[in-house]
Amino acid sequence: MDKLKDFEYTMDSCNHCGQCKWILAPKMKGWDFAEICPIHQRYGFDAYSGQGLLSIAKEILTGKLQYGDGLEELLYTCTCCGACDVNCKNVRDMEVLDTILALRDDCAKNGELPKAHRETARRIAGTHNIYGLPHGERFAWMPKDYEDDGNADTALFIGCAAAYKNSDTALAAVKILRAGGVKFRLLREDERCCGASLWRTGQTEAAAELIERNIETFRRLGIKTVITACAECFGAFRSGYPRFARTEFETKHITEVAAELISSGRIAPKAFREPLMVTYHDPCMLGRLSEPYVPWNGIIRPFGLHEPPKTWRRGENGVYDAPRRVLGAIPGVELTEMTRNYEDSFCCGAGGGATEANPDFAARTAGERRREAMSTGAEAIVSCCPFCRQSLEGAGDNPMPYLDLTVLLADSL
Ligand code: SF4
Ligand code: SF4
Repeated sequence: MDKLKDFEYTMDSCNHCGQCKWILAPKMKGWDFAEICPIHQRYGFDAYSGQGLLSIAKEILTGKLQYGDGLEELLYTCTCCGACDVNCKNVRDMEVLDTILALRDDCAKNGELPKAHRETARRIAGTHNIYGLPHGERFAWMPKDYEDDGNADTALFIGCAAAYKNSDTALAAVKILRAGGVKFRLLREDERCCGASLWRTGQTEAAAELIERNIETFRRLGIKTVITACAECFGAFRSGYPRFARTEFETKHITEVAAELISSGRIAPKAFREPLMVTYHDPCMLGRLSEPYVPWNGIIRPFGLHEPPKTWRRGENGVYDAPRRVLGAIPGVELTEMTRNYEDSFCCGAGGGATEANPDFAARTAGERRREAMSTGAEAIVSCCPFCRQSLEGAGDNPMPYLDLTVLLADSL
């Protein structure tokens, strides 16, 4: 993992232009829904933004500012959604989100990690899941007659959230893969938390240990492809794991596999309900934050020239089309888009441990996203991440239902 010092160039390069707080002007449809940073949208002060966190990082690095007095509360309210990062990269090549993650690592190492995140780490260490529920119940949802395809080299990784809280997503993923004739296996007692909650809250050493163990499990079981039913696990495997270790497996989200099965005719959704107008929420960890992380070690020359050239993650190559193709293939389902979509999606509020550190803020952010969804005229908001689901389901005071895309597809088969 990179350290705070590695991002001094980014801290010094910020010209305070403010682009990290807004979607690009040509994409704006008005002031409403133009703000892209959830903490800035909520609190309004510059400190609550990518720009502000870069200034804070610089002051910490140079010893002019110390942790304490609420600084860590500010830092851990950020959802690590990366909207500032991709919007900043429209104007400059620098690493806003990675600086924030390095600041969290530094904050944790200084003993200032919020209690809620220390508690999550304790639960993961004891029970291998973020909820502290018994490890033996992780696959309690599994149908009695379920059988693995022998020693298949593809694993369906369920993730803590779907395994313990949204088992209908887990069952739907199994149904889709079975219907499409995909050979796969479940990891059962070998499946443990993906580690995203540790990595993204700056608990780097605990994350490294868990990630190495998971990679070793995949290696030992001969797993070449990991299909996830959760956007958080997906983003962790693609953009988190390569920061810690060499990964030899391919990661696919269930919507990518489903889109392939639909295009090849191996599954064919049927009309199963009244026509429905929906809007789709792009999860941060499936969209802009899922671009593969490519380690870079080089020199930054004057004018920001990176030698050797760096692979920049601009959020454009996340998984955006697959879920929309799946939606488009379900008869009677029509999609209407929100203003903040694709790499400009507005976080559901659950990212980066914000739900644990600042639940009121997380709920309010989810309410803001639902307000945007309502403004499209859609009858339901659809997404494909159990964390987004837990955040968006029932947030705010509008009655719009939330539908899980994996479940919606499975019901149409
Ligand atoms: S967009 Fe980038 S350069 Fe501009 S204020 Fe934000 S972090 Fe600084
Ligand atoms: S990561 Fe998201 S919440 Fe944090 S500063 Fe950037 S845009 Fe704001």
